[in-house]
Formats: sequence, structure tokens, C-alpha cells
Amino acid sequence: MRFALPLLAGLLLSTPALAAKGHSHGVAELAISIEGELLSIELEAPLDSLLGFERKPQYEKDFAKVREVAALLRAGDKLFVPTAAAGCILSSVKLESAAIAPELLGEKAAPTAKADAHGHEHADLDAHYQFKCARPAELKSIEVNTFDRFKRLRFIDAQLAADKIQRAAKLSAKSRKLSW
Ligand SMILES: [Zn+2]
Repeated sequence: MRFALPLLAGLLLSTPALAAKGHSHGVAELAISIEGELLSIELEAPLDSLLGFERKPQYEKDFAKVREVAALLRAGDKLFVPTAAAGCILSSVKLESAAIAPELLGEKAAPTAKADAHGHEHADLDAHYQFKCARPAELKSIEVNTFDRFKRLRFIDAQLAADKIQRAAKLSAKSRKLSW
């Protein structure tokens, strides 16, 4: 699921359709929104950039890789570091991918969840994070530390939507902080 970011519509240059089919390997998208004390972060990454393969996990080593990646992604407060003064605490993480059974990602199996990606298509993994911030007015930046952990992920197209603030930036290992 993506956030609706109506204020940013004009900045969304190249990907009107956010379906997995259109992604570029090595490039993820990040949508950040701030509403009151709630900081929401959604990362949408090609499976290839996280796992090194882009198909349903089949073999024991695939399952092990998915578990390893899920554990890294669940440590959301290591991957995404908000301004310390804002006092933001990670309150929830949800991982989903059409190619991977929810249980393997550490999610409770939902009756409606289905893993049905076809082998020849692109597939994404979406990670949804919520932080609660004690002093949201102090929130001025987020450092993104995905690049050290996922070497195949080279760029992140990041967008921020908050009250009266919009930002878009291309992040990389050398430029990993979104500031506003
Ligand atoms: Zn792909």
C-alpha cells in the first residue's frame, strides 16, 4: 500500500503507476509522512535489491535469506533514524510481499493474504513503519541506513509530506539524510 500524497503529485515524475512491474533494480521508494506525533515511513523495494533474487523463495537457503532480511527490516529504528531530539519511538512494523508468505516475513498469516507472484514478473517488498514522536516539532531529518545492509540497493527516491512541508530527494550511501 502506498500513501496518498496529493501535495506531492507534481513531484512524482517518473512513476505514476507504483506497481511492482515498473521498478528498477537497485532503486527503492520511500514515502515519509508526519501527522501530529505520528511518523509513518513506507519503503517499497524490489525484492532483488533486498534478497538478491526475485521469485518465490523455494529452497532452504532462500528461506534463510528471507528470514535474515526480514529481521534487518524489522529493526526499523536502525534503518531509519529520526532527529534524536524529537524522541521518536518505533511503534509498529509491517512487512508484505506478493511473492512471500506473510509467516516467513514474521507476520501473522491473514486469511486474505496470498503469495501468488509469478516467477517471471518483478516483485516488491513493502515495509511499513510507524514511530511515535514525543516532540514532533523537533523532527527535522531522517537518516536512512539501508545502504550498508542491502548492498544491491543503490538509490532511494524519498518523499516527505508533512504539514506545510514537502521534500523529495534521491538518497544514496553517500547522501543518506533527508532533511527539512
Ligand atoms: Zn524486479
